[in-house]
Amino acid sequence: MIYTDMVCPFCGCLCDDVVIETEGDRVVRVDNACTLGTHKLMTTRKDRLKGPIMRDGAGGWRDASYEEAIEYAAGVLLDADRPLLYGWSSTQGEAQGLGVSMAELLGGVIDSTTSVCHGPSILAIQEVGHPGCTLGQVKNRADVIVYWGCNPTEAHPRHMSRYTTYADGFFLQNSFRERKLIVVDIRKTETASIADEFVQIKPGGDYAVFSALRAIVRGRGAVVPPTVAGVTKEQLEKIAEICKSAKFGAFFFGVGLTMAPGRYKNVRNAIELVDELNRHTKWTLTPLRGHYNVYGSNEVFTWMTGYPYAVDFSRQIAFYNPGETTSVDILARKECDACLIVASDPGAHFPRKCLEHLASIPTVLIDPAQTVTTPLCRCQIPTAVTGIDASGTAYRMDGVPIHMKAFLDLGYPTDTEIVGRIFEKVKEVRHP
Ligand code: SF4
Repeated sequence: MIYTDMVCPFCGCLCDDVVIETEGDRVVRVDNACTLGTHKLMTTRKDRLKGPIMRDGAGGWRDASYEEAIEYAAGVLLDADRPLLYGWSSTQGEAQGLGVSMAELLGGVIDSTTSVCHGPSILAIQEVGHPGCTLGQVKNRADVIVYWGCNPTEAHPRHMSRYTTYADGFFLQNSFRERKLIVVDIRKTETASIADEFVQIKPGGDYAVFSALRAIVRGRGAVVPPTVAGVTKEQLEKIAEICKSAKFGAFFFGVGLTMAPGRYKNVRNAIELVDELNRHTKWTLTPLRGHYNVYGSNEVFTWMTGYPYAVDFSRQIAFYNPGETTSVDILARKECDACLIVASDPGAHFPRKCLEHLASIPTVLIDPAQTVTTPLCRCQIPTAVTGIDASGTAYRMDGVPIHMKAFLDLGYPTDTEIVGRIFEKVKEVRHP
């Protein structure tokens, strides 16, 4: 079978032009996806668990039925005073919505991987707004592109070919020659090597460079010293001029900016630079989101609770205070007594102190395959992968919702089904 216009379930680009060929229940060919997407689609059956597994009480694992695992997960959550429901970035919006409702009923905390990637971007956006646009606008209009603290060539490999440097658009017939590419980073990356202008800044110097550029764009360049964070004033003036003379500029940034010293203040300064440039011409700003539906978790959490991540229901109302209600902080302070992890791998990313607490409390993982998080858990429930053997909704990095279609049936339940069945059991006790 050949399936066309399929959506790649890997990164926030959500490329929707993928062609997949299958023989039986095996993927034998993938066209249009990058190496990351192709690898995920081609190896979808590798390492998947055949069914739920639970601790056997002697340090090993035993097989369990879905009913038993769901019963266990519900019991663990119901017994807890303040359970943490974490992850949600590589799953469908429908499951995210159920997760929020369940967290509210349990009086727990729901958080997504946003708290360890673009959380600072959201804090900045809440303070000064978001001058955003769709990637279609960028493709068709933007003649100057800035990538700051990110390396799309390796992390979002088709971003440049679908939307920027290599993508011809309605107003750009020869994109590669007509678009100017500026890359700002602390080292020369693959993306920087093809930039028209590469600005190498000292680590931690982002805030100062933004402030210098804002001063130059405002016509107050006289206050800028000869070098700022390793960048010469001459180069800063050149960059400011390129940006001011753009017809339409698009600024993209990654965790190289959000997780550098300054954090959300960096992003706030970036947004204010974009505001400054909008006094001269048209500029927009978009965070490069990693997991394919991390943006969706922010959308779903916000329209259900008013807050985009780290939502705490333990006070019987939705409460949000990043730094206090974010997963890393809760785990490090041992403030949760059970955890449900859905479609994410904190074992590979969280500090050791957090993982030690995770291993000491009843933790249930919903994930198709064994991951670094598995050894920290007491039960794992495998599910279908959205975009492969489950259909569902995901939000692209520019906020556009996209329907992801399944093309295989491997017999696994979806995340929505498993979270829904756990939620039903929770409701039986809390709302008999
Ligand atoms: S750029 Fe991202 S969404 Fe597109 S094919 Fe590659 S991994 Fe998949």
